[in-house]
Amino acid sequence: MTIEGGNTAGGRTPGRARADEPRARDEMEARREDERIRSGSQERGAGRSERSPALRDATAGVPATPEPPGGAVRSRAAMESQAPRRAFAAAEDFVRSLPKTDLHVHLDGSLRPETLIELAHERKVKLPSETASGLMETVFKERYASLDEYLRGFRYTCAVLQDREALERAAYELAEDNYAEGVRYFEVRFAPQLHAHGGMDMIEVLRAVNRGLARATKKWNRRPEVADGGEPEYVYSITVCGLRYFDEKMSPYYGDFIRVHPFSPKTQLYSLGSLELAQAAVAVRDEYDVPITGFDLAGRERGFPAEDHRPAYEYAHKNFMKKTVHAGEAYGPESIFQAITDLHADRIGHGYYLLSPRMVKAASIADKEGYVRRLAEYIADRRITVEVCLTSNLQTNPHLKDIAQHAFKDMRAWRLSTTICTPNRLVSRTNVTRELVLAIKHFGLTSRELRQIIIYGFKRSFYPGNYIQKRSYVRRIIDFYGEVEKAHMPPGGFWGSADDDGEP
Ligand SMILES: [Zn+2]
Repeated sequence: MTIEGGNTAGGRTPGRARADEPRARDEMEARREDERIRSGSQERGAGRSERSPALRDATAGVPATPEPPGGAVRSRAAMESQAPRRAFAAAEDFVRSLPKTDLHVHLDGSLRPETLIELAHERKVKLPSETASGLMETVFKERYASLDEYLRGFRYTCAVLQDREALERAAYELAEDNYAEGVRYFEVRFAPQLHAHGGMDMIEVLRAVNRGLARATKKWNRRPEVADGGEPEYVYSITVCGLRYFDEKMSPYYGDFIRVHPFSPKTQLYSLGSLELAQAAVAVRDEYDVPITGFDLAGRERGFPAEDHRPAYEYAHKNFMKKTVHAGEAYGPESIFQAITDLHADRIGHGYYLLSPRMVKAASIADKEGYVRRLAEYIADRRITVEVCLTSNLQTNPHLKDIAQHAFKDMRAWRLSTTICTPNRLVSRTNVTRELVLAIKHFGLTSRELRQIIIYGFKRSFYPGNYIQKRSYVRRIIDFYGEVEKAHMPPGGFWGSADDDGEP
């Protein structure tokens, strides 16, 4: 089965893609290393390691920095050339050990390559390569030449995620991969309507994903250091994505949906599609006890405005679902304005062009600078959190030549509430640790700023428990963060210890 263009990654501006990470590390290799180190640690026995079990797991997979040739006699130049690599590896090691969040990660963009191959083989889905390294070479690249190339991978992942077993396995492995790098809380998002069809409705899709997440989470919470209360629990929740735009080829569900409404204009169908999803999400949350806590809107921004989806967001809002919106990723500040005014967004996915007056297109807005200033001040003051996706933006944004030019720099200057997200572990070949290290490396975060950004992820999460439980969980995380920091960060930190003035 082939599904054309079905994905929740959003409509992005086509163009030359860039990625500036100098150390291209194959995710698969990292995972193998991870397994090797973890099984080695288990053989040695828990408790005998110098590091806490959490730290041992969290740092697994970080390759040792290679020694320069020449043994003890090293030239000054050789030693200096190793210094940035050492600093990077040390920072990565430390960041892995910290409790972290990922509030924006797509299930269909985050499969393990080996799993995609196995699922495709079993389901007779043809892939461009039958090996993980071949897939990483041909589909899931470090750099992409165009948006189409970036989105191509989703055709294959969506094509294999059309039954309960595949969904459950993908969800289980995603949770495992997150927890293994020290992510304590994550919100996985996907569009159930890309996976539902005559043989599996949205209820079954959501329950299958939840089974996988719950199974992995229970397993990790049975670990002695968590079960005995020494460390905070691993927690997940689900965010469902409606699509701004869909067509017949994107999934059997959308194909049927369009066919049975031949007299309705397309904008009405987009509106009805997301409303149906919101109603399904609330029903599954309430009747099946599935922790669906967020509603999202993904897909092409240009030409497909947020206002079409007001009914869905009103329904979600009136049923106390939290709300995020992909906005300002490939379109200007007006898209973010619509997300917070028409859709009551609590968070913004990407928000890349929030601070770009040149991207304001509406002729009615004469003072573009003033419009952006007021919008940014409102978002900062209301603590509407921006889900920042560094690598993904670099891969899909033609204007972004270097990660240091990312709008994250200006977001910080505006003191916006930000959280660092992946958002596609496979398609962007990244993980939370890597994204945080990129933020540290390119934006010179102090240890205090890093702590604030990470803790803000927990605070602004759509946590599935009640508010008292959430407060207590965040408190546990803050304490644990302090313990890890104290035990493993050298005096002065890895990247300086400049003062800043409080909340990010
Ligand atoms: Zn996204």
